[in-house]
Amino acid sequence: MYVIRGSNCISCGKCQDICSGNNVIHEGEHFFYIDETKCSNCGKCMTVCPMTAIVKTEEKVSENLPKGLQYTEKPIVFFEKAGKKNTAKVLELAKERALSLNIRDVVLPTTTGKSALEAIDFFGPDFNIVVIPCMYGRFKPGEHTLEPEYEKKLRKADVPVIFAPYFFSGVDRAIYREWGGMSSTLIVRQTLKLFGEGIKVCVEVTIVGADAGAIPIDKEVIALGGTIRGFDTAMVIQPAHSLQFFDIGLREIICMPRKRIPWQPM
Ligand code: SF4
Ligand code: SF4
Repeated sequence: MYVIRGSNCISCGKCQDICSGNNVIHEGEHFFYIDETKCSNCGKCMTVCPMTAIVKTEEKVSENLPKGLQYTEKPIVFFEKAGKKNTAKVLELAKERALSLNIRDVVLPTTTGKSALEAIDFFGPDFNIVVIPCMYGRFKPGEHTLEPEYEKKLRKADVPVIFAPYFFSGVDRAIYREWGGMSSTLIVRQTLKLFGEGIKVCVEVTIVGADAGAIPIDKEVIALGGTIRGFDTAMVIQPAHSLQFFDIGLREIICMPRKRIPWQPM
């Protein structure tokens, strides 16, 4: 399977010219992508690209199998440790998967704002980035966690920055802190955290983005997540609103830490 890395592409159109099946699509001013459902994997486009922007991925589609038995093999990258040191690789993998699936919507969390700015820069203007910062009061009542210099740049970046309550927190977590006990919301939260903090965060920012009307609910999005700071997890998710929580589709894990961090106090 072949994908075009948008960050290297100079929009020369040579790949489109050589593809006899018209499988290279040109959208907007600069956006080229390969329609994986039609591509015959001949590789010709890769040979003419002057910027080595076209790469072969490890994805494989089953061939000659009857409908219902077909499958796609895709790699999942497992990081040795959770945390922000994985941010650059997460962005690279997430963008590659977005391009191969023709996904343009990316929803992501941020604590200080730094990783959100990195993502906005890395994905570029062809993507709709939605930033969900930590809610007010996460660490100190009445305060958010964005650092002033990053907040200023985020405000200028012309992307939605949505402060909203964490879907899996709110009054359930307040009750837990005061009196203990477990609500159904917290059980769902902790179950997702069994896979890792980043998986839970991916689901949470997707719900928040959907409820704010900032991401579509009729097509898949890329969701990023992390552990405390930065990114260490990326997924392909079919969004849903919180009221239809069980309609959410966790389609693909792109990357995640292999081991989750020890349980933290709620
Ligand atoms: S690999 Fe071949 S069929 Fe696929 S987009 Fe490139 S030139 Fe077209
Ligand atoms: S040949 Fe390469 S640089 Fe030119 S449009 Fe295609 S991907 Fe972009």
